[in-house]
Amino acid sequence: MTRSVGLNELRAAMSGAVVDSTSPDYDDVRRVWNADHDRRPAVIARCASPDDVVAALSYAREHGLEIAVRGGAHSFPGMSTVDDGLVIDLSPLNQVRVDPAARRAVVGGGALLADLNAATQEHGLAVPTGIVSHTGVGGLTLGGGMGWLTRLGGLTSDNLVSAQVVTADGRVLRVTEEANPELFWALRGGGGNFGVVTEFEFRLHEVGPLIQFGLLFWGPEQGADVLRLAQRLNESLPRSLYVMPGGVHAPPEDFVPEQYRLQPGFVLMIAGYGGEQEHADLVARVREELPPLFAFVTPMPYVALQQLFDEASAWGQYNYEKSLYLEEITEDAISVITEMMPGKRSPLSLMLLYRLDEAYSEVGETATAFGGGRGTRYAMFILGVCPTPELLVADRAWAREFFAAMRPLSMGGATYINALAVDDDQDRMRASYGDAKLERLARIKGRYDPGNIFHHNVNIKPL
Ligand code: FAD
Repeated sequence: MTRSVGLNELRAAMSGAVVDSTSPDYDDVRRVWNADHDRRPAVIARCASPDDVVAALSYAREHGLEIAVRGGAHSFPGMSTVDDGLVIDLSPLNQVRVDPAARRAVVGGGALLADLNAATQEHGLAVPTGIVSHTGVGGLTLGGGMGWLTRLGGLTSDNLVSAQVVTADGRVLRVTEEANPELFWALRGGGGNFGVVTEFEFRLHEVGPLIQFGLLFWGPEQGADVLRLAQRLNESLPRSLYVMPGGVHAPPEDFVPEQYRLQPGFVLMIAGYGGEQEHADLVARVREELPPLFAFVTPMPYVALQQLFDEASAWGQYNYEKSLYLEEITEDAISVITEMMPGKRSPLSLMLLYRLDEAYSEVGETATAFGGGRGTRYAMFILGVCPTPELLVADRAWAREFFAAMRPLSMGGATYINALAVDDDQDRMRASYGDAKLERLARIKGRYDPGNIFHHNVNIKPL
């Protein structure tokens, strides 16, 4: 059968659209978030149901096509697209149903955080997720999912209650603690290795709709003091508050006094979910201990907090990321960070430290497949975010150099698997999961995808 005859059959079998290089929207549809990955798939199957996924898998098998699965297309290393292969694009599966009484949300496998936030916040509820609302729920959840609410409610994957999965052999499975429990364990941290998740069901937490936010900014010469203060604050912070330190350029926004726009420096971003006074007291303490150059403090909808970085991390830029876990912000770490930050070239490139403790640490080390111990730590992200490929060359080198200097201070090579770089080695994946978890994952992979057809991911080889 020639591919085009087959494509017509696939088109007839699917309720969603099938796009190939002859389609007028091909160039639009094949784009992924990171412009550094300009790939040309043979077929993009825009799946609108589990049956569409089954049909697309069967077509790929018949035609010997490589498969990439795409949720929100936000993989930094471009894992959700593939040259000459078939992309299972889940973006039509973006519906969210909320049951406020049961505190549950059922979310399509291709939904974005924005879809989830909008639907749950109508009821003052939320799933802890990431901090950019155009990220996909799919990839984020399967690798873990961390952000503003991690201390309050754990990882996104810790809040997963059930999933619907299309397996490599075309079965549609319901997966819970009771039904297919090994697969359920693997989905919570093992990435996209085990099948195509067409639906996620999450537990919900009471958050917002209005939360408190503060962004306080200091110049580069005060970086060490800012980082020391962040460490001190985080040592005794209630889970209703979140303090995220970062190295950034001040954005060219109205809330930034003109003389500081696009100036490099350090920030503390302070979110509060427990009421105005608690947040105001913390901000006052910070102002007193270390007066900032400027501060932007305001109540805002939780949905707006989730959109705060949307524009700075817009589609179409050139991006590169390195990450690691830090047990605490030590003096040695502070020396490296303050020395390395001035080396970035793009004003949008940045460094962020996500604090992980409280609810995150209450989940057992082996309760889920998540790659990273549950002890108190920071996930450190060094992000090259560049408007042009030329700047990316410079800031990729910066991120690598920064990472190399931090690595001896990090927790044994382990990292957040959703932030593994394209040039990171298998050793880092092993260090992140640990031998026992990786072996268990490999056995589950062997059971559900023995031929490793789902390998455009942080790949676990089947045992
Ligand atoms: P995709 O590129 O679509 O997919 C990534 C991987 O997951 C691929 O291997 C894909 O095959 C697989 N996959 C996706 N959906 C499914 C599915 N339904 N079934 C099976 N496999 C699937 N992470 C955080 O934890 N916190 C953050 O705050 C955060 N912020 C980010 C901000 C930006 C701008 C970006 C680009 C990333 C951020 N991340 C964050 C990292 C993010 O979690 C990962 O990039 C994640 O993989 C993105 O998921 P996606 O569905 O958008 O990506």
